[in-house]
Amino acid sequence: MTQPLNTSNPAAAQANSIEDFEHNLASIKARIEAAARKAGRDPATIRLLPVSKTVPEARLRMAIAAGMDFLGENKVQEVARKAEMLSDVPGLKFSVIGSLQTNKAKFVAKFADEFQALDNLRQAEALQRRLEAEDRQLDVFVQVNTSDEESKSGLAPDEVQEFVDQLPQYDRLQVKGLMTLALFSEDKEAVRACFVRLRELRDALRESAPAGMKIEELSMGMSGDFELAIEEGATVVRVGQGIFGVRALPVSH
Ligand SMILES: *Cc1c(COP(=O)(O)O)cnc(C)c1O
Repeated sequence: MTQPLNTSNPAAAQANSIEDFEHNLASIKARIEAAARKAGRDPATIRLLPVSKTVPEARLRMAIAAGMDFLGENKVQEVARKAEMLSDVPGLKFSVIGSLQTNKAKFVAKFADEFQALDNLRQAEALQRRLEAEDRQLDVFVQVNTSDEESKSGLAPDEVQEFVDQLPQYDRLQVKGLMTLALFSEDKEAVRACFVRLRELRDALRESAPAGMKIEELSMGMSGDFELAIEEGATVVRVGQGIFGVRALPVSH
């Protein structure tokens, strides 16, 4: 196995029954709890966001029956489609964790409860306008590129302060925290460095964010690296393959 630590390596076998989902969910929760205790943290301060991208309706319904009610998706149109398909499920919520073109802001405003990939003001502007039209609010995370890879979305760490200083004008957006994707690498310490960088940035912003804005959350860690992320302070971990099973295309699809 030469899979990088934080790509497809620790995927579960494909979950195909409610019992499979219950089992996978319990096992990820137990690992979250163990990682939290090891780091001297209260497990209740860490939210598991199951990432259901590419998973079709029948298996989604099993996941929901197993207790999942807040699902992460990286494609906006997939959220719109699934939200309509599953509109009979009471209380089901979606978090958009992938990049957003401004012309699709209306889908986020209408169907999502959270957007974790905010990284430019045109998005903020488009979301504000659409949220006003829907008369809704949206929780947002600012995405930060902590690995300096050109292929990754997100603001450079040194751009974040100036960016969040602009956000109070968009009063439909509730800024909750920061989100990152770590380096895809087998080098654990290089992965850890990304998480440390996000935490240090959050700590600095606690002091310097605009009045009334509480930047507390750290969304970091996926199936392959969530335990490391918890050691470094993650408050939201986004786990797809560890719950749903292996995907053909691990990260961006
Ligand atoms: C797909 C994805 C995840 C989950 O990845 P897994 O390897 O399936 O756990 C987390 N975050 C983002 C932004 C993703 O696109």
